[in-house]
Amino acid sequence: MNVQKLPQKILSNWELVDVALSLGCIEAKIIPTKNIMLGNWVKLQCQYGCPHYGKLFTCPPCTPNTDDMSDILMDYNQAILIKAASAKDVHQIVLSLEGRLKTLGHYKAFGLEALPCDLCEACTVDTECQFPEAARPTLQACGIDVPQTVSGTGWEVATERSPCSEAYPFGMVLIN
Ligand code: SF4
Repeated sequence: MNVQKLPQKILSNWELVDVALSLGCIEAKIIPTKNIMLGNWVKLQCQYGCPHYGKLFTCPPCTPNTDDMSDILMDYNQAILIKAASAKDVHQIVLSLEGRLKTLGHYKAFGLEALPCDLCEACTVDTECQFPEAARPTLQACGIDVPQTVSGTGWEVATERSPCSEAYPFGMVLIN
């Protein structure tokens, strides 16, 4: 019998932000998932501009396309957007935050990170993921328009560089 663990303690938005800050991000904001912008054009940047396309489980075409992501976001009302000192820090922060929220009963919590997965020397994309519990796609890899979504919260964002780079130290955890 599959017992779903419901939130033991509903954290306020402030408390959720405090949890994220305690895990090392420099800024965090709760956003309604309806404010997460998707774009079919995003995939072009992956397919015709990135060496990781088709090479990682956490990159297209392995990741949800825009339609899939639109359906997935329907199952969530809010997410927490985080900003770290460096894009390299985002992976550990969102993974820890996802885990913390799950221990608090937010069983749908799922993290999206900033940079392509580098957990393995060479990704075993033709067989199975070596660290599925830790491998997380980037926002861009899931069809999210990162500049629009981030600037929509009032944060500064560098549009001259491509997401999935050091210029975008942003991550997200879909909460509930
Ligand atoms: S953990 Fe390894 S196998 Fe999994 S996506 Fe990352 S690089 Fe690929």
